[in-house]
Amino acid sequence: MRFAALALISLAVVVPRLAAQEARLAAANTAPMLAGIDAGTARYADVARQIWQFAEVGYQEVKSSALLQSELTAAGFAVKHGIAGEPTAFVAEFGSGKPVIALLGEFDALPGLSQDSVPVRRPLRAGGAGHGCGHHLLGTASVASAIALKQWMQANGVKGTLRMIGTPAEEGGSGKVFMVRDGVFDDVDAVIAWHPASGNLVETTTSLANISGKFRFRGQSAHAAGSPERGRSALDAVEIMNVMTNFLREHVPAETRIHYVITKGGAAPNVVPDDAESYYYVRHPDRAVVKQVWRRVEDAARGAAIGTATSYDVSIVGSVYALLPNETLAHVQQRALEVVGGYALSAAERDFAQRLQQSEGFSAVPLETTARVLPLAPSAASPTSTDLGDVSWVVPTVQMYAATWVPGTAAHTWQATAAGGTSIGVKGMLVAAKSMALVGAELFSSPAIVAAARAELTAKRGAGFQYETVLAGRKPPLDYRAGGTP
Ligand SMILES: [Zn+2]
Ligand SMILES: [Zn+2]
Repeated sequence: MRFAALALISLAVVVPRLAAQEARLAAANTAPMLAGIDAGTARYADVARQIWQFAEVGYQEVKSSALLQSELTAAGFAVKHGIAGEPTAFVAEFGSGKPVIALLGEFDALPGLSQDSVPVRRPLRAGGAGHGCGHHLLGTASVASAIALKQWMQANGVKGTLRMIGTPAEEGGSGKVFMVRDGVFDDVDAVIAWHPASGNLVETTTSLANISGKFRFRGQSAHAAGSPERGRSALDAVEIMNVMTNFLREHVPAETRIHYVITKGGAAPNVVPDDAESYYYVRHPDRAVVKQVWRRVEDAARGAAIGTATSYDVSIVGSVYALLPNETLAHVQQRALEVVGGYALSAAERDFAQRLQQSEGFSAVPLETTARVLPLAPSAASPTSTDLGDVSWVVPTVQMYAATWVPGTAAHTWQATAAGGTSIGVKGMLVAAKSMALVGAELFSSPAIVAAARAELTAKRGAGFQYETVLAGRKPPLDYRAGGTP
């Protein structure tokens, strides 16, 4: 869900305080590790392409998860699947003892973003799902990185535990939140993550906390012309609730985001709908504000139900923390990314990119962006949310972005699906895989960095911090994509 549009806008911003803290990498003998990833290019491209074609939505990523697991099993990892009540979650492990370093991989697709790898709108399956957030590359790069790191550990007699954690349903399913809640990260010392983007950079900003949920109204059906007085419209309740929340926007703290879709609104105009549903998100950088605004949205639902003589229930679907960036790890990741560097587009890729940039919704970003690594620079909070947020409050976490899309691409678009299915996506994926492997090697080689990252997390959380989630007591919403709801 995350993307790096804001950071790309601040291309030229270099913050001296951050730049001054950069350190060189200390891990030895990493060249064969990087060469191993390059040597696996065709294989990993094939894995990513298969997952791109599967295009499985949240908690339904059966084939995608199985494919990544089979790659890890074949490479000698011990793999467990079915984690935290999520059938498609998995943990692959190699080694033993401390430190425990984990790479994370997502693999869920988005409804409605099916698209062929061509620079014009052409769905592979009309109305089908597609990888408009690049998670087919995300999971595959982390697997490639983990396999290379394992080989490096074995070749160099490195002690410690390497984990590759497969995390389902990032897109609204809060897959990682249930894993955090159930202790999957309790003994992990550092988490290395990445996300597809249209530039190469390291995350230094926070994101938005959120709560999402579905409001289901029940009324009484009746002939809409013959006996409307006997009907109680659930759709009326949905519409009135929406009117109230739209007025509410004026009276909430700045930076609040409220959005909704109507997921059920009746089947025929001549029948008063007795069953209607809306699906809401509330977001803000501060979790406490999100909770307050969410209570007011629930009040609107209650008011709408009273006024329309309907009943309702609310089902929380997801909730995430805002990301807590770890500067200690960000500096290591920046150095690693600079060592690996970006890549140039081939003539065919440039042609594809230029044609895609002519489609609607592009900002004019130079194609040379793929070859650059942006400086480490803080910017405003990214107005998106990620379940990596919860992870980042319990484990020191770093996230980088690699240019898997044509420069100027927005996430969650058919253009992202299109480029992600081409060699541009593969090239970006390899940048991520190699950069993350270098960070992993550095953390296994430098206990002081791991300790400093933990100390930074402890200080930023403040005394008395205890992780809690509004999803406590709930099961993962394994059916939240059922019925084609977005
Ligand atoms: Zn996304
Ligand atoms: Zn994403």
